[in-house]
Amino acid sequence: MARIIDAPLTTSESSGCDPRAVHGTWGALDAAARRGLAYTPEVAAETAPLYEHVKHVIPAVEWPAYAPLISAINKMKRAKHAVILAHNYMTAEIFHCVGDFRGDSLQLAREAAETDAAVIVQAGVHFMAETSKILAPDKTVLIPDMRAGCSLAASITGADVRLIKQRFPGLPVVTYVNTSADVKAESDVCCTSSNAAAVVEWAAREWGVDRVILLPDEFLAKNVAAQTGIKIISWHGRCEVHERFTAEDITELRAAHPGIVILAHPECPPDVMAASDFAGSTAALQDYVVEKRPAKVVLLTECSMSDNVAAAAPDVDFVRPCNLCPHMKRITLEGIYDALANMQHEVIIPEDVRVRAKKAIDAMLALPKEKPRAFEIGRPEVAVELV
Ligand code: SF4
Repeated sequence: MARIIDAPLTTSESSGCDPRAVHGTWGALDAAARRGLAYTPEVAAETAPLYEHVKHVIPAVEWPAYAPLISAINKMKRAKHAVILAHNYMTAEIFHCVGDFRGDSLQLAREAAETDAAVIVQAGVHFMAETSKILAPDKTVLIPDMRAGCSLAASITGADVRLIKQRFPGLPVVTYVNTSADVKAESDVCCTSSNAAAVVEWAAREWGVDRVILLPDEFLAKNVAAQTGIKIISWHGRCEVHERFTAEDITELRAAHPGIVILAHPECPPDVMAASDFAGSTAALQDYVVEKRPAKVVLLTECSMSDNVAAAAPDVDFVRPCNLCPHMKRITLEGIYDALANMQHEVIIPEDVRVRAKKAIDAMLALPKEKPRAFEIGRPEVAVELV
């Protein structure tokens, strides 16, 4: 039975190609005014250096809508000894202007474990905030919107994992971090898209088996099976953003943009990976663009990622496929402001669940830290058993 922790955005909220348009510039202006915040000369001067990081995506005329909230949030962070962990899929004004630590799930999990701040605000979805709380139980972990869920996390429960373990005793359970604390608590080790292949190889070696349970993403499981050659048992979970990409999209992109370099995230279907030029986690995609500087590129992942990578590679031309994650877009500047102002919404996990979930995350973090591993394109498919 799926665990639903999110109500989807309405069509009008989630349509369109501008991630910030989900709530809108006027919404931000109104939100600032309702909180007694204004674009004063002091706010303009203080936030001018931050605008340099986002001027490629936020027109100057829109900046007065965001700057008062950004200024107020940064002041509150200092007063409350708080940090903001900003995922790569956050909109640019959050990612670059209030985020203290930025990156993919694995990078943020490491920061949560190491920060000495008293308060963590998770600019990401609910399972990420749970991961921070699991690793930093003495800190107050806040999420700006409790409805910020994830289709993968909602696809499976701890009870489902217990049934799978009964059916396949003796096999290691590797769980993607995009899952609830309940699911992590039933697992042997976690993984992210950065290290999934390495973790599966490690688990097969440690347990001395030729099959590994990798939950809950069907496509990640198929892509990891092809990389490692290890037989995998998986689940029918899918990321609702990445499953929408098709091999036909790639054919059309190549026809419309000759010479374009196509980078795919491993939550995409295997035929999309096969038709791409490079595949890897969000961290690996960012590294590729920053190091190789392709003239024109498309990232087959959540839309905001392109805006955030573009700040580090302004000479690269990004074609944006505009697949937004409606859950990530629940997180807004005004939501972050309210979270800090009212110390809401605190993430709480039962201690017995937290302790068991931490063991699975610790097992992942104990593995040698390595550069995000790319997925080799063109590897033969290996059958995956879906339960
Ligand atoms: S992009 Fe996909 S995996 Fe990430 S939070 Fe959204 S639904 Fe979940």
